[in-house]
Amino acid sequence: MLVTLLGTMGWMPSDRRETTCVACRAGDTLFIFDAGTGLRRLREPAQAALLDGARDVHLFLTHYHLDHVCGLAYLPGVLPGRELVIHAPAAELNGVDPEGAVAGLLRRPYNPRDWEDLGALSLEPVVAGVNKIAGHTVRVRAQKHSDVSVAYRVDDAFVLATDTRIDPQTAEFAAGAGLLLHEAWYNAADRRTDETPPELHAGYAAHSEVAAAAGLAAAAGVGRLVPMHLNPLHDESYYAALETTARTIFARTDVLDDGAVVDTDGDA
Ligand SMILES: [Zn+2]
Ligand SMILES: [Zn+2]
Repeated sequence: MLVTLLGTMGWMPSDRRETTCVACRAGDTLFIFDAGTGLRRLREPAQAALLDGARDVHLFLTHYHLDHVCGLAYLPGVLPGRELVIHAPAAELNGVDPEGAVAGLLRRPYNPRDWEDLGALSLEPVVAGVNKIAGHTVRVRAQKHSDVSVAYRVDDAFVLATDTRIDPQTAEFAAGAGLLLHEAWYNAADRRTDETPPELHAGYAAHSEVAAAAGLAAAAGVGRLVPMHLNPLHDESYYAALETTARTIFARTDVLDDGAVVDTDGDA
């Protein structure tokens, strides 16, 4: 399976990296994970091919923090007239009614049209454990974050675990997957991390440290680790150092740019 990184940053986009969005195409099915600002990259020529012939389009949400859902406002421009199924976590996972949450994001005066008036959209909540969607096995588990988020696993191809504290159970959930996309908010080995303003420390506690994420990748025996949801308070040299740190623990780690395509069976 080919996974395209549409947004590799957390919180705020930069000139180079959009906020979280990942797409994969399997036959005439297109799966999209999170609707960060990266969703807009489906309009760029290099990524527009993902939409060609895609008849069955599914958008999965990890949680409702704005950096992961602001792209919902772009849907009429990115996927005009397309039928789209949005999969949000069932209330049993996070205590949030998915219909109310999605409709609450897509309503006036925050969006020019209400959810009910965006006729091509429908909502199918995902539950903890196995979900069968478009012929694929999509596994879901709750993660600890400032609000509950969920991790996704698609077949044995890849796992997306973002907006989460380090959780040993992620290794079990990701065991044997071709690709682990795991958030890496900071690098404890980098002195620049110590310059973080104290008021942001609570936010760091809701996210993951890269060496620990690499440890999970090693424990899970995944084919490859790609750190995601990078921290916009730092720059590309910080991300390069973060990659170096991770590789000391899990050699097959690569920090990739937006637009990168990863083959979950091996080579990029
Ligand atoms: Zn986030
Ligand atoms: Zn978040």
